[in-house]
Amino acid sequence: GPANPGVGSWPARRARISPHRTALVQANRTLTYAELAHRVDRLAAVLTGLGVRRGDRVAYLGVNDVSVFETLFATALCGAIFVPLNYRLSGAEIGYMLADCGASLLVHSADADELVASSGPLPRVLRTADLDAETAGEPPSAEVTLDDPCLLLYTSGTTGKPKAAVLTHGNLTWNTVNQLAHFDVLSTDRALCIAPLFHCVGLGQITLPTLFKGGSVEPVARFDPGVILARISEARITGFSAVPTMLQMMCQASAWDTTDLSSLTCVLYGGSPVQERVARAWLDRGVRLLQGYGMTEASPGVSMGTHEGTPAHPVSAGVPHFFTDVAALGLDERVAPLGTQPAELLVRGPNVFAGYWNRPQESRDSFVDDEWFRTGDVVRVDDDGWTYVVDRVKDMIISGGENVYPAEVEAVVVQLDEVESCAVVGVPDERWGEVGVAYVVVRTDLDEDTLRKHLEANLARYKVPKHLVFVDALPRNATGKVRRVELRARAAATFAGN
Ligand code: ATP
Ligand code: MG
Repeated sequence: GPANPGVGSWPARRARISPHRTALVQANRTLTYAELAHRVDRLAAVLTGLGVRRGDRVAYLGVNDVSVFETLFATALCGAIFVPLNYRLSGAEIGYMLADCGASLLVHSADADELVASSGPLPRVLRTADLDAETAGEPPSAEVTLDDPCLLLYTSGTTGKPKAAVLTHGNLTWNTVNQLAHFDVLSTDRALCIAPLFHCVGLGQITLPTLFKGGSVEPVARFDPGVILARISEARITGFSAVPTMLQMMCQASAWDTTDLSSLTCVLYGGSPVQERVARAWLDRGVRLLQGYGMTEASPGVSMGTHEGTPAHPVSAGVPHFFTDVAALGLDERVAPLGTQPAELLVRGPNVFAGYWNRPQESRDSFVDDEWFRTGDVVRVDDDGWTYVVDRVKDMIISGGENVYPAEVEAVVVQLDEVESCAVVGVPDERWGEVGVAYVVVRTDLDEDTLRKHLEANLARYKVPKHLVFVDALPRNATGKVRRVELRARAAATFAGN
């Protein structure tokens, strides 16, 4: 066949080395690498028969399961571009993305039936349950290079409308090499895939590296902390990738204390800040926990903790990945070394994307000197060179001329045992320009006075939020990130001018 070193060729390449090892596990059904390669070959021929060609976009909607992997690899084998969409979005949002990426085909599982029906003008639609019955066409005939796009991955939309990052086969391959250089993955490993596969943490952090290495991956459709804990001990799971809210829910679950976690050799997390007590709860159980920092645009890994260094730096985002360079954006807008003073982080490396889909201006604006990606994150390093994500540039509050990073304030609020979680946003204020509003979720009674005293004792005066609001829950997106845009609007409606 035509040359294809891309991600779509991984199952067949892996099947040459370890055909009988288990690649995917789902509901006690297993698929070996040989079986996976065979099914991917066939599905690629089905897609070709349906007219899918190199460069076409194949969108996907559905929970984590074997079909996501088969469709991803088959699409990539055709040289087409896989576009996994967030099934927790509304029909209107999905409709926007389908039009934005110009999908020629939408593949979806049964759980997305209703969502698809409400998504407006649709391309050709195929249900995963019907894929096996489709007739296969010719095998794909296009050559694929590592510079070809493999994946269009929408960002989480935390700071605005989601943008589709174009990730090439090369980007994903180098990210995999970076991950494997950073932590141990064995061909005997059994990873759970609990973070959603439409998000970069689910796909890039441990899942693709494990499949590259010949280990097995068990996709999990829905996150239930008790069920996951049971599965870890029952299946002797060795690792998984999570977002911090998942780690928090698991260590607060009733089964936490009695679950055997001894099989875990590598637990990764990232995507948003972690509470120190949550990281400690896992580390104290002897789990080898590593924080990863990254973003959709970096496929996603930028930095990660190490097993040697994490116990001494439990909330640090670690050190840069093997082939990835980091720098700071200096005050003169020039590239400077990263230092102990917070500055916007710049990233360069073979895992960093080339641009956003159909957004040439934004793509150009997101690079400095055409090579350094502007992350929009404020980062500092400690004396050991370990990185700390301070906050997002856009979330910073300027109060009375002083910079206030909400994440720093939030970390102090959640030090109180009574507090479950917290988010701080800025609101316009006549006297100070902006002031902070803290939205606080408590697990047991806490009065405003106690909270304010705790803040005043631990933070400079100008950092203490002017308004403290107790709420039942924080608005969060599918990967557990707080919807700050929503909170800012709420704060403005309640407090602006007060
Ligand atoms: P959008 O770009 O659409 O506004 P987003 O930035 O949330 O959304 P993602 O690519 O999913 O989309 O998330 C990457 C961002 O998540 C990073 O830029 C950073 O702000 C945050 N993040 C990732 N890892 C960490 C971490 N370990 N600690 C703190 N924040 C993190
Ligand atoms: Mg972003």
